Amino acid sequence: SKMVQGKIVKLSVYDVRFPTSLEQHGSDAMHTDPDYSAAYVVIETDAGNGLKGHGLSFTLGKGTEIVVCAVKTLSMHVLGKQLEDIVSDFRGFYRLLTSDGQLRWIGPEKGVIHLATAAVLNAVWDLWAKQEKKPLWKLLVDMDPKQLLSCIDFSYISDALTEEEALEILQKAELGKKEREEQMLKSGYPAYTTSCAWLGYSDEKLKQLGNEALKDGWTRFKVKVGANLEDDIRRCRLVREMIGPNNSLMLDANQRWEVEEAIEWVSKLAEFKPLWIEEPTSPDDILGHATISEALASLGIGVATGEQCQNRVMFKQFLQAKAIQFLQIDSCRLGSVNENLSVLLMAKKFQIPVCPHAGGVGLCELVQHLILFDYIAVSASLENRMCEYVDHLHEHFKYPVIIKKACYMPPQDPGYSTEMKEESVKRHQFPDGEVWQELLSSHKLQLPPPKS
Ligand SMILES: [Mg+2]
Repeated sequence: SKMVQGKIVKLSVYDVRFPTSLEQHGSDAMHTDPDYSAAYVVIETDAGNGLKGHGLSFTLGKGTEIVVCAVKTLSMHVLGKQLEDIVSDFRGFYRLLTSDGQLRWIGPEKGVIHLATAAVLNAVWDLWAKQEKKPLWKLLVDMDPKQLLSCIDFSYISDALTEEEALEILQKAELGKKEREEQMLKSGYPAYTTSCAWLGYSDEKLKQLGNEALKDGWTRFKVKVGANLEDDIRRCRLVREMIGPNNSLMLDANQRWEVEEAIEWVSKLAEFKPLWIEEPTSPDDILGHATISEALASLGIGVATGEQCQNRVMFKQFLQAKAIQFLQIDSCRLGSVNENLSVLLMAKKFQIPVCPHAGGVGLCELVQHLILFDYIAVSASLENRMCEYVDHLHEHFKYPVIIKKACYMPPQDPGYSTEMKEESVKRHQFPDGEVWQELLSSHKLQLPPPKS
């Protein structure tokens, strides 16, 4: 593409943290005090067009500095590259980052180094989409199927999905593509809300937020569970009574249980008719999820996971083992758009609906692009599908999500919606930003941050 130009001459990375733990936003059975944070990457070229690429990887506070450090290490593979060379062999560039002969030892394609890969590649995709003057979802939707597949690393998944099968999926979905795009532009992609029922919220707050959400047109609600069974029963009853029998209820245990414990516990919540139980146990336990899926099938409860699924190889196995009924991609956990594309295509082949994980900081902004692409160009279905939504921290983004009637409206601005406001980055930089300096001096922090 002739529009793509410039050599990458600068990569900056920032440790940006928001003190969400002060109000228990984001609290669940395992993550009781998250400070929603990001390793935030900015890349610049010598093209002279003023365009920068912005990317991030989501974290919970402590440890963001380690992701930042990994990004700095990866920058050696990014600096000095022509953007055109990167996107014309994006599979090769993905492998350069994920399969460096020395670096891959601290992965491969998992953990901190993979979070860093996501942040860097998200910035590259943002820059590419900006140069093409399209929102990322539209760049993907308009891309020639063969070029799209050239962005994907099929290593270790070809036993489940070959490149030829992937091409067939994309070609089949050409039918009705234009209509689906128009439908999305008009009505948006259906969402559900997690904002009402964080584990640390009181019943009163839950009721107040739930009623407000119902008034705003929300019909699908997620409740955090797993710390105390009596509490869960009370909260689920409260929510089910509030939302009525026809709205959807989902449960999220954030990895709290042993396999048998999960089956027993969720069975006791079956009367509240949850659609799924999310992250019942360790995110690495594929066969455990399969056991839970099988046991809960007769109760009509599906199993969902993915926000901490390390890579496409694990997603492949979840699908092969029939271990999940809902697949939850994450825009910052996998190796960016490249790896997520492979997972969307596998999910299509295995006929498992994709219901993305979002929330945190920026995850809604990013993942909406992927699920829009999925509907328009891959799945062609909205059945049993919805994208998570959480109402926090959008004000820090230059192109925040737009929700209308509980649906994500397709972004129109060029890029991946990854760009944060400069002022927000400056104020929330850890530990020197104004916000953190104030918290430190007023002793609202339990622990002092490490000396940087
Ligand atoms: Mg979750």
